Amino acid sequence: MEEHPGGKAILLKHAGKDVSQLFHKYHGPHVLADHQRLLVRSLSGAERKEVEERSPMLYESAGWSLGFPSPYYKESHHKLRECVRSWVHDKISPLLPLCEKRQFPFKEIIKESASAGLLAATSIIPFPSQYLQHPQIMGGAVPPEDFDYFHQVIIWDELARSGSYGAGVGWFSGQCIGLPPVIAYGQGDFFHQTLIPSVLSGDKVICLAITEPGSGSDIRSTSCSAVYSSDRREFLLNGEKKWITNGIYADYFVTAVKIYESEEERRKNVNGRLSVVVVPRGEGVVTREMECSGLHGTGTTFVSFSDVRVPVEYLLGKAGDGFNILTRNFNHERLFVIVVGLSLARVCFREAFCHAQKREVFGKSLMENGVIRKKFGMMARELETTWAWVEQVTFLMDQLRVLKANGGGSKVESLEERLGSRVALLKGHTTKVLEFCSREAAQVMGGLGFTKGGIGDKVERAWRDARGFSVFAGSEEVMFDMAVRKAQRDYQKENL
Ligand SMILES: Cc1cc2nc3c(=O)[nH]c(=O)nc-3n(C[C@H](O)[C@H](O)[C@H](O)COP(=O)(O)OP(=O)(O)OC[C@H]3O[C@@H](n4cnc5c(N)ncnc54)[C@H](O)[C@@H]3O)c2cc1C
Repeated sequence: MEEHPGGKAILLKHAGKDVSQLFHKYHGPHVLADHQRLLVRSLSGAERKEVEERSPMLYESAGWSLGFPSPYYKESHHKLRECVRSWVHDKISPLLPLCEKRQFPFKEIIKESASAGLLAATSIIPFPSQYLQHPQIMGGAVPPEDFDYFHQVIIWDELARSGSYGAGVGWFSGQCIGLPPVIAYGQGDFFHQTLIPSVLSGDKVICLAITEPGSGSDIRSTSCSAVYSSDRREFLLNGEKKWITNGIYADYFVTAVKIYESEEERRKNVNGRLSVVVVPRGEGVVTREMECSGLHGTGTTFVSFSDVRVPVEYLLGKAGDGFNILTRNFNHERLFVIVVGLSLARVCFREAFCHAQKREVFGKSLMENGVIRKKFGMMARELETTWAWVEQVTFLMDQLRVLKANGGGSKVESLEERLGSRVALLKGHTTKVLEFCSREAAQVMGGLGFTKGGIGDKVERAWRDARGFSVFAGSEEVMFDMAVRKAQRDYQKENL
């Protein structure tokens, strides 16, 4: 009782009575789901009432899922959305409070998501059936061969609707960015018979380790070194990596390094070739979780490599191909961050909207004040326009998938290049939308938006998490700059 965010007086006053109406007057739509672990017993037929009771409102979900006709979605998309929403309700929502306390059962949820097919579905397209014993997605909601970018976007969107990056999304972010380069560039049995199947089955965890204390946006300035042994059978790896998502849980580190032919070259810092090596956790690999403002549960980690011996077969692609290998998955990674960021912005809208309907100030509900309604109008226009843009980019990504499946050719390269700048621009924009919506929603919630736990919990968390969004997967300035430089190059080609 002492921990109740609304104080104990109201609990004592109404104890022993049916408080359903009173409860919903003060609490947001997902409070019951988030606290399932406190459930003692249910009245028959009442278990899912809270979820079914409220029909979804405008702007809290994308238009297509609210019944607006759309050319992008087939029956399998609708079916998948329902299945994932229900999975999130049952598996993720009860875990939300554990995330902030750093007690999130990471390995368990990875296993659960692997058996539901979600781990494979969030990692790469085409769906990687060849690595799975029983390829299926949410009990057959989508045949694996039909899985497209819109399906993947739906999964990301629904997972983030839980209102927590850490609980809803954090567990697959390492593999979503770490596994695609391995699938695309790994050669030999170690990758294709051992590593990839073990990650997709949830037995092992992978992460992508590019950033260092001294190099972030500028990947080419990587200083982590891998020196050939005299018999050229191993690399000797030394260096540090910082802010590595899922690093604390990881068994494999997909690591950006500079390869040197000899220790002397490394000492003189000459002829280093940017490359990517997969480092298994073992002797010389030390990880420690970092204290960050938000995104708790994702295991943001500092990694040190000291004289780590790695077989040369664990090199991805060729020595010197590092830049292409690392950047090839960037559109996919950024689309993931875009969808999740926008979904969290919608959560902020939803939580604040429900609160504004219920909270009374000066004798009327908050929502009856025009100033407050305008805030929701400003948020809604950002949410809706950005989603239309997300659909457009998703459609282009899917066109690329189809082109590749049909042999591709020069059209693939051209579309891939043009897509990069559009995705970068959208990534920078979505970060701004999340910052704006979490700020405005927190303001509508007053003190609750500044308080952990209770009704404002999700908004308060999104506001903190938004900081991370503007930095990872391509920092804001770099994203906008990339988009404008592409326009500049095109202009110069045509006009100068
Ligand atoms: C929560 C979180 C998770 C992360 N997860 C991972 C991960 O899993 N793996 C991984 O390898 N890394 C990860 N990172 C690191 C992330 O990719 C880097 O933080 C990011 O690339 C920026 O690098 P930096 O922090 O060193 O900033 P810098 O590169 O030092 O940039 C500092 C500031 O300067 C701006 N800037 C940089 N260059 C320019 C320019 N040319 N013109 C104008 N402005 C510029 C940047 O936008 C930024 O605002 C993560 C970071 C965070 C916060």
